[in-house]
Formats: sequence, C-alpha cells, structure tokens
Amino acid sequence: MANFNPPLTCQLTTRYRLSALHLLARPELSPEQNAQHFVHCGKLHGHEYGLEVTWEAEIDPRSGLCVQREKLNDLVEEKILKVFHKQKLNDIVSNTSGEFLAREFLTRLIREERGHSVVQVALQETHKNRFLCRKEDLEK
Ligand SMILES: [Zn+2]
Repeated sequence: MANFNPPLTCQLTTRYRLSALHLLARPELSPEQNAQHFVHCGKLHGHEYGLEVTWEAEIDPRSGLCVQREKLNDLVEEKILKVFHKQKLNDIVSNTSGEFLAREFLTRLIREERGHSVVQVALQETHKNRFLCRKEDLEK
C-alpha cells in the first residue's frame, strides 16, 4: 500500500449535460426592449448546457482515488440535474444568466458536499460562452 506523507491531493472534473429553457429580462423594459438588449437570450429559448464540476481531495493511498465518482454523480444528479434539467430556469431562480447560474450551481453543491470539496463550476452555455465560478468567487 502506498503511503503519501504528506498527503497528496488531486482535482477531478466531472462533466454533465443539462437542457433547459430561459430568457433574460430586465423588469423595467418592455418585451421588445428586452429582446433588443439581450439579443438571443431576450426571448424564451433553450440551451444544451455543458456543466463541469471540479472537486479537490486527498488521494486515498488504498484506492489511489481522490473521490468516489458515484458519490459525485449522485450529488450533482440530486442537487442540480433533478432540479434544473428540462425546466424553465426562470421558474426556479431569479437570474438565469450564465454568470449567475454558475454561481447558483456551485453554491448548491457546496451546501451539500458531504465531505467532498467542490472547488469550481464551469457552465458552457454556447460554443462561444463558458462561465467559470470558483469557490473563492463566492466570497466576493
Ligand atoms: Zn440563452
């Protein structure tokens, strides 16, 4: 059995897919003004989001793994996918921009991490846009 002294850490990033509807709107603007202001996202539409969750933990010298993948998948399934997949995001959260969704997902995972350390969430909204929220960003 390997013995890591000091303990070795590693990061693992797991990927998920999330389909959902949303629109971006400022309440003080008319629907036409919102459509003009937010361009593509100003009208109700869907995205195939790519979600990447990065975990950090010590490597278990017995297994050689830093975290058990099934536990991570169960947590993301329970806290993110069951809640948001195939839903209208505006019915769940007040702001559905990629920036706020990345923060929301990271916040929900950290609240329930059960011994795992979630260090960041990356949310790919389109092939051009990817939003990154790190744990330290939540303190700002
Ligand atoms: Zn959009």
